[in-house]
Amino acid sequence: MGLGKCRSCGANTLITLIDFGDMPLANSYPASEDACQREMLMPLHAVFCETCWLVQLLDSVSPELLFDQYSYLSSYSTTWLEHAERFVDKAISKWNLTKDSLVLEIASNDGYLLKNFLARKIPVLGVEPAENIALQAISQEIPTLQTYFNLDLSQKLKKDGINPDLVIANNVMAHVPSLNDFVAGVANLLSPSSIFSIEFPSVQTLLTEGQFDQIYHEHYSYFSLHSCSDVLERHGLRVIDVETLPTHGGSLRVTAALGDAKNNVSGSVAELMEKEVQSGLCDLSIYQRFGKLASDRTSSVMRLLKSLVDNGKVIAAYGAAAKGNTLLNYCHIDRSIIDFVVDKSPLKHNHFLPGSHIPIYDVDILETKTPDFLVLLPYNLENEIIAQLKSSGLFSGQFIGTLPQAHII
Ligand SMILES: [Zn+2]
Repeated sequence: MGLGKCRSCGANTLITLIDFGDMPLANSYPASEDACQREMLMPLHAVFCETCWLVQLLDSVSPELLFDQYSYLSSYSTTWLEHAERFVDKAISKWNLTKDSLVLEIASNDGYLLKNFLARKIPVLGVEPAENIALQAISQEIPTLQTYFNLDLSQKLKKDGINPDLVIANNVMAHVPSLNDFVAGVANLLSPSSIFSIEFPSVQTLLTEGQFDQIYHEHYSYFSLHSCSDVLERHGLRVIDVETLPTHGGSLRVTAALGDAKNNVSGSVAELMEKEVQSGLCDLSIYQRFGKLASDRTSSVMRLLKSLVDNGKVIAAYGAAAKGNTLLNYCHIDRSIIDFVVDKSPLKHNHFLPGSHIPIYDVDILETKTPDFLVLLPYNLENEIIAQLKSSGLFSGQFIGTLPQAHII
């Protein structure tokens, strides 16, 4: 029977990585106690493909359910905004972009990246499915189509004379259930001189550090350079460069172009491919070890938080991000352990975390409610959060990190 077909290569070689059972949707924040009771649960079962090594979810929740109203606004993270600015500077000089070029970004969010191109007079077009977020971009005069990107849209755009010199897909390939259709759509829009730039958190850190909290319904796929290159090649694209980035606890920026374009292939590609082989990303054992890493981490989080609560300590958390939700729910942590969570995004204030139903407040609440400990849920932003809270004087207690195991910082 088996588990079905790989969403990338189509092979019948899927094996379980971790099965969470039924979980609430990680980015859907109930607005009331009542809504908490009506919360929808969906299976969350991650598998890997023994043929192309793509880590992926077995079941696909419909994207409309996940992305039509999306509460992740990129503009709320300063680390992220700086990262975007640096990327744009580099892209403009590296790919010689001018006022006659066109930059197309897929999943352009609120336009936090594209606005940097516009400031340099380079025309842009964003594609963003979440209505509330696309409208924010449009209100800032960033040309944005409110829709999903796929082969069908790509063909329409091409007919309308859209010939992008640079197509950007940062942290979106993971969110695409029909991976082959998406990549075929990008390939269709590229000319021999165009560049395709992709960023995604590398599955390597997820696997080696037990970062199971990167797994949630919105992430259908979890790429390595191997599995990414595999799907690109299937659609006539070739990886010409790869960089490792510190974002999301270890990301890759992959640059690709049409296979027959005359680009030099950077030595970094073969180097990272080899490194992935050396790290065991193309061996069964790393995938088989993952379950143990995840359960060790889970027990360490439960043990530390419970012992603090038993000793009368008050615990709050920072960051109502999707990541944190998988962690809290898998560790069965609720309001009896964590009193509340603070987050900068006003869209989430006075809502509840999915599953754990912990209330979400503005960061300012730390002035009046003073927990002893603050659990930092987005581990990729730990340093930024600690620096901000220390300099603002909002919090004088201690911080708790959860990677690779729970620890007091
Ligand atoms: Zn596969």
